Amino acid sequence: MGEHKGNLFILSAPSGAGKSSLYKALLKQDDKVRISISHTTRAAREGEEHGREYYFTDVENFLDMIAEDAFFEHAQVFDNYYGTSKASIFSMLEQGLDVILEIDWQGARQVRHLYPDAIGIFILPPSLASLEERLKGRATDSEEVIQRRMAKAADEMSHYHEYDFVIINDDFDKALTEMSAIFTAMRAKTPKIQEKYGNLINDLLSL
Ligand code: 5GP
Repeated sequence: MGEHKGNLFILSAPSGAGKSSLYKALLKQDDKVRISISHTTRAAREGEEHGREYYFTDVENFLDMIAEDAFFEHAQVFDNYYGTSKASIFSMLEQGLDVILEIDWQGARQVRHLYPDAIGIFILPPSLASLEERLKGRATDSEEVIQRRMAKAADEMSHYHEYDFVIINDDFDKALTEMSAIFTAMRAKTPKIQEKYGNLINDLLSL
């Protein structure tokens, strides 16, 4: 898709793999990267802000947006709607920014279908024990709740091979370096360089 200058990334992981800390650190150190903010009809949780975690909206508005074809992809999760608006990602890509979609493997499949140039990155935890530790959460959670989280994580991880890149988040700094290297390498792909440095290349080839 030559008309867009930035790259679209899909970032998936089982919860407990440290995905949010990684992309937040990347956003801090790389001013050409943005995270896509989804729309949702669920209520804001304590500490969440409109326009930061999500764009919080009501069902009526969400359905209007579906009817207007405003969504790149959307899904119903339990009783709520979630979606990525086209406006929110394409304007950034056109400005040459790289955009991260933080979605699960099902959303990732939809996005790959709609946008085959999307680059998938999957984050894995370094061991089952560390994953379990992260998923244990509050001491009040029952064994059943924890087992349900583990089963969901196992399901998510079983799709790792559908992604272009895999990062094992053992050492945080190493994982961040690997993620940053992927973003840098994708910017150096020949079509991206042709797009960005067309004049220079013409000049060099005119010798
Ligand atoms: P939560 O309500 O806990 O923030 O998110 C619930 C679920 O909705 C998570 O699995 C999350 O990945 C998914 N989700 C959040 N935003 C989007 C979106 O824009 N599109 C899709 N397909 N799923 C989303």
